[in-house]
Amino acid sequence: GGLSRFNNMAMVDFTRAEHRAAFPAAISSVRAQLGKTYPLFINGREVTTSDTIPTVNPAKPSEVLGLICQAGIPEVEKAIAAAKSAFPAWRDTPPEVRAGYLLKAAEIARKRAFELSAWQVLEIGKQWDQAYADVAEAIDFLEYYAREMIRLGKPQRVGHAPGELNHYFYEPKGLAAIIAPWNFPLAISMGMASAAIVTGNPVVFKPSAITGIIGHHLVEIFREAGLPDGVFNFVPGRGSVMGDFLVDHPDISLIAFTGSMEVGLRIVERAAKVHPGQPNVKKIISEMGGKNAVIIDDDADLDEAVPHVLYSAFGFQGQKCSACSRLIVLDAVYDRFMERLLAMAKATSVGPSEDPAHYMGAVSDDKAMKSILEYINIGKQEGQVLYMSPTPQGEGFWVPMTIIGGIRPEHRLAQEEVFGPVLAVMRAKDFDQAIEWANSTRFALTGGIFSRSPEHLAQARRELRVGNLYINRNNTGALVQRQPFGGARMSGVGTKAGGPDYLLHFMDPRVVTENT
Ligand code: GLU
Repeated sequence: GGLSRFNNMAMVDFTRAEHRAAFPAAISSVRAQLGKTYPLFINGREVTTSDTIPTVNPAKPSEVLGLICQAGIPEVEKAIAAAKSAFPAWRDTPPEVRAGYLLKAAEIARKRAFELSAWQVLEIGKQWDQAYADVAEAIDFLEYYAREMIRLGKPQRVGHAPGELNHYFYEPKGLAAIIAPWNFPLAISMGMASAAIVTGNPVVFKPSAITGIIGHHLVEIFREAGLPDGVFNFVPGRGSVMGDFLVDHPDISLIAFTGSMEVGLRIVERAAKVHPGQPNVKKIISEMGGKNAVIIDDDADLDEAVPHVLYSAFGFQGQKCSACSRLIVLDAVYDRFMERLLAMAKATSVGPSEDPAHYMGAVSDDKAMKSILEYINIGKQEGQVLYMSPTPQGEGFWVPMTIIGGIRPEHRLAQEEVFGPVLAVMRAKDFDQAIEWANSTRFALTGGIFSRSPEHLAQARRELRVGNLYINRNNTGALVQRQPFGGARMSGVGTKAGGPDYLLHFMDPRVVTENT
């Protein structure tokens, strides 16, 4: 039977009573499962280790959610060996059969959507709607990459010279190391892992340490989907213990990474070194940071711009590489716009994401909290605090919603990724200066503009050199297929997750020519 056309999964709809009721119910059912130990998964078998680390609720770190077994070098070696022995059969499995496993996985995840979302509320502090959006995006990746593999899996005839038959087709590269972030803990993990799997590359998956339970959801989903042993291996572990070992290993041919620029560049550098016995040049798919600007033109529709900017900057505590972290407001509209933005900011509250009343929750961990608070201090010296929200008293990784004015391109707050709820506001004298400032960092991930001027919009399309430019809307929440996501320059290597070229990065093309 033919596969239906790809469609994004519908967002959660809180006008529906059953969706409203589902979250508290799912959160209590998740709470009833706390305290388990999560094993590694190697060659189709669970592997426990005596070394574990806890994952906690960032809004209440005394609440331990579970213990995650930690892979050391011997476990990573076993996972790589398992992937290596699974490779020939998986490579030779027909593309549509590989795609079938992804479709099965999507079906499994869809049935668990609210429960998987509830885990995100507790393990990483996502708001209800954003947690559900992450799960929906993971499902979209499975559905989309399955269809993409079926499309790319058919050999294409190329050329039209008589007496000659040319076929162009793709083969997997080999073993893939998947190194995932905590901020889209199911979506980005599933996106990178499923792309590798469906293209025929067995996976060694390292989730982020602070979202180990959500990382383990991939094991549960792929196991239930019946993926052959060794095709998906789960090895959470300390980066300092096994990170370099995984990246350096000669049997790894492909590394898909999403995270900070510093770690991404380190991977690029280490992976360039060829080790004895290494069969391939390592391919790197690396999505890194952003310092994304939104421009408010003097004729912008402020009713649209105010809520979209607030959401882009502070949704999920600003912990998205797509988030708006620089707001460039034209002088002529500065006072009017800022008055309204600050009024809306003041009307929001910060508190546990379990309670949907709060606009912002806790940040990811202690380390992030300290680093963001440090940037707020830098901002206080470089500019002026326009707003700093109250935060809950007592335990939790809390930082205030912070808006700092008077920032100029040379300031650190205009150049460095904070990865938290800190918005740097810059006042530009005219539109050309706004564009120039927007382009004045080494990143090129997302960007935004609110304007009603056709000339300015045309200029922005041409000159705002970012991977994803959003016109008159928020600049987070890229959807699979509709907004292929990713940047260039120091934001990434241009691979565009959820887009038509993504799977090509996981494969090598071949051509067979027959003289007929
Ligand atoms: N794809 C996400 C978005 O469009 C951002 C991903 C990230 O932060 O890594 O908001």
